[in-house]
Amino acid sequence: MIYLDNAATTPLLPSVKEFLCESLEIFGNPSSPHKLGAEAREKLEEARNRLADLLGVRPENIVFNSGATEGNNTVLRGVLGRRGNVVISAIEHKSVSACAKYLSKKGIEIREVRVNSEGLVDLDHLGDLIDGDTLLVSIMHVSNEFGTIQPVGEISKICKEKGVPFHTDAVQALGKVDLNLEEVDYATFSAHKFHAPKGVGFLYVKGELEPLILGGGQERGLRSGTENLHGILAMVKALEEIHSSFEENVRRLEGLRNSFEELVEERLPGVRIVGKKAPRSPSISTLILPQKSGWEVVSRLSEEGVFCSAGSACTSGETVPNEHLMKMGYSFEEATRMTRFSFGLMNREEEIEEAVEKLVKATLS
Ligand code: PMP
Repeated sequence: MIYLDNAATTPLLPSVKEFLCESLEIFGNPSSPHKLGAEAREKLEEARNRLADLLGVRPENIVFNSGATEGNNTVLRGVLGRRGNVVISAIEHKSVSACAKYLSKKGIEIREVRVNSEGLVDLDHLGDLIDGDTLLVSIMHVSNEFGTIQPVGEISKICKEKGVPFHTDAVQALGKVDLNLEEVDYATFSAHKFHAPKGVGFLYVKGELEPLILGGGQERGLRSGTENLHGILAMVKALEEIHSSFEENVRRLEGLRNSFEELVEERLPGVRIVGKKAPRSPSISTLILPQKSGWEVVSRLSEEGVFCSAGSACTSGETVPNEHLMKMGYSFEEATRMTRFSFGLMNREEEIEEAVEKLVKATLS
């Protein structure tokens, strides 16, 4: 099997898997007042401190949760009950755009920043959209679909000048691109995107936060519910490992992606690489195939043991185009031919040639 769908989820690093199994021995509830609880609490707070250190933030800025869907819901739905508008980009993940749709039903105006054909937000348009009634700006750091890196520093500057809080969905950024949390007020993260377990993540919070989940008052009242201690410990362990060889990892991922793209361009005439001229994550390569729907090629490749993603669906026999690509100016036809390949730390150079060979066969035959 050749797994090239790391933007969807990543396999556990072997050392993280081993560590996770060992950590299952700790079973206390961090909120219990007895010794076992204290032991669990100590582990939890130690993990929070290490994570804060690694990110250059304060431990109180970190709220552990179940991942980015929860994090995005917490931040966006936090504006409910207020009057005004929320600005998002045209290519947000569903966990942001679906919340935005919900907010609009509740009377909050949603404004969408245009993106160009590379998937980068139009900063002038962003500046125009923000006004005195803007409650929040939410723009993702790295696109999960195209890998383009948004100019977070410049977005942050605009938001600061206008006095508006800035949230970024940084799920695809952590461990792959430089991250400066000083530039944002809120950021969401998910462990399973960086070789740690699913169902765990964290929210970086600098400002005020309305809790989404109420209950026992865990996480300083910002996210009730018994913490996923094992998941949290494994997540911090994975991040420490990744962080300790960040530059080397980025170089390796970039090497894999570049070999992949060079081979694809050579062997698949007419192929287009989305966002090629923009700053891009080293781990994502999104193609517009010269023919066939992305969906069809993904299923053919799956039968051949190569796993990637289509970026569009096939509903009742009809191929649905990727709506974000269409917003970027791609035609209906092109938007049905998207295929995303995403690389991770468990991939090896030898896999690339075989994957491309199978991709060419699946596309042309
Ligand atoms: N945002 C982005 C950009 C993502 O790629 C994903 C995962 N596909 C999510 C949010 C949702 O994350 P989770 O799986 O932790 O809910």
